[in-house]
Amino acid sequence: MSFICEDVGTTKRKKMTKTRALKIWEAHKGICVTCKQVIDATREDWFIEHIRALELGGKDEDPNCGPAHMSCKKDKDAADHSAAAQAKRRKAHHLGIKDPNRKRIPQPPRAPKREGKKPLPPRPLFQKAS
Ligand SMILES: [Zn+2]
Repeated sequence: MSFICEDVGTTKRKKMTKTRALKIWEAHKGICVTCKQVIDATREDWFIEHIRALELGGKDEDPNCGPAHMSCKKDKDAADHSAAAQAKRRKAHHLGIKDPNRKRIPQPPRAPKREGKKPLPPRPLFQKAS
């Protein structure tokens, strides 16, 4: 699942109650929204996941929520954070915002500037035999 990378700000989170979690579980019939496999709730850890991440403009409403394995969380979170960071970079670049704290890569000191070539002293063409 991919979304258009657009920085829209993070949506505020509502409280997740047991009733709300059960309602979301029932709506998805216990199927993980990330890997689409049935969650065995008695043996596997699971939680309510936002299908479209809040930081990517997803709403904290029941239609945007679904159950997910804890093991599926890591990959989805990484992809969501990456997409959100990319969207923020694009927005900053588009607006011409530069990072004032960005450190430049240190360069080695420059070699002293060479002066023009000096002519060599004249050499005798023939050496006298001694
Ligand atoms: Zn899963």
